[in-house]
Amino acid sequence: MPDIRLDGITKRFGDFTAVKDLNVTFEENTVTCLLGPSGCGKTTLMRMIAGLETPTEGRVRFGERDVTALAPRQRNIGMVFQYPVMYPTLTVEENILLPLRHDRTVDQSERRRRLAEVLEVLQMEDMAGATIGQLDAGSRQRVAVGRAVARYCDIILFDEPTTNVEVNAKLQLIRAFKEVARRLRQTIIYVTHDQTEAMTLADHIALMRDGEIVQHAPPPELYRQCRTEFGGWFIGNPGMNFYRTELHADRTNVRLPFLAREIPVPEGARGDLTVGIRPEHVRLHDSDHGGLAAAEVISRSITIGGQYLVKLAVDDQIIRAKVPSSVGRRLGGRVYLECPDWAVTVFSGGVRLETGTAAAEQSVSSR
Ligand code: ATP
Repeated sequence: MPDIRLDGITKRFGDFTAVKDLNVTFEENTVTCLLGPSGCGKTTLMRMIAGLETPTEGRVRFGERDVTALAPRQRNIGMVFQYPVMYPTLTVEENILLPLRHDRTVDQSERRRRLAEVLEVLQMEDMAGATIGQLDAGSRQRVAVGRAVARYCDIILFDEPTTNVEVNAKLQLIRAFKEVARRLRQTIIYVTHDQTEAMTLADHIALMRDGEIVQHAPPPELYRQCRTEFGGWFIGNPGMNFYRTELHADRTNVRLPFLAREIPVPEGARGDLTVGIRPEHVRLHDSDHGGLAAAEVISRSITIGGQYLVKLAVDDQIIRAKVPSSVGRRLGGRVYLECPDWAVTVFSGGVRLETGTAAAEQSVSSR
């Protein structure tokens, strides 16, 4: 299957630029999630890949083939939308086979073989004879996926396909997507604003903001080595704690009051800096075993994963820590904060500075 190459892609609607000069390749046979907040340009980008929207500037290539001027039906792509068009009175089987009905290159036995394969991958063998009207929203979306993949397109585009599916069915649907991606090895672009979905599904995530891709990386890298302050805020649940400070000309360290110590910053870094620390990397102790900052517990709540999210005050600073339930349960009043050097990220002008701790972080993350 081909990769997808975007070469200087820009989309303007009147004076407004929705997608800004993107130069990126989405790898073949992988799942790339376009992730970002509402309005950042995910759908517009996907629609340009599909041929539903024409770029104002730039070229779209599938492998070596320039498809910029081609209509959607000439691009050999499958699409799955939030609200798939389904025929409620037809069966699951009939819906999946529908696009193959007029394809003379696919004979009857090949159709049956593909149908069996798709039903098996989507774990829908026992529903083959049910009509669409009898299915829940999640199962209907699985049929939409089956219909797209049975055509054996080069590329499949998903636009927020789980939005209208209830939570339990969502997990089953995501498992089905993963299985489709693993078994059929098509090149998949998946639009979502749900980071958990992106982290679960993607081989690579293109994190978008204001029409730009701010980072394109595998999920663990996006989490551990976010390139931008925006990424530190957007990725994580909740995102990073930030502390804004200023570095004077004669200094090579910044002091973090809530860690009661100094953090080295790279040579040449000056002026306004932001320090980011993930809540799950803040450790809490009952007593000060040397040089720790004291904090007051303001509130604590249980997260979906069973951990405790603890809101703390150090002087006038608020910092959040995410700790195991065994720690969170017994907390109250005064605690002491600790955070390893590798978990501290320094940003200048919103962009991560490479510190000496980045190498250590790499080695920790690969353990
Ligand atoms: P969401 O998650 O809410 O769907 P998104 O990241 O997919 O958001 P887009 O739908 O791509 O964002 O929209 C990006 C920006 O472009 C938005 O500000 C939107 O209002 C604008 N936009 C999209 N389509 C058009 C259009 N046809 N005409 C004018 N503006 C548009």
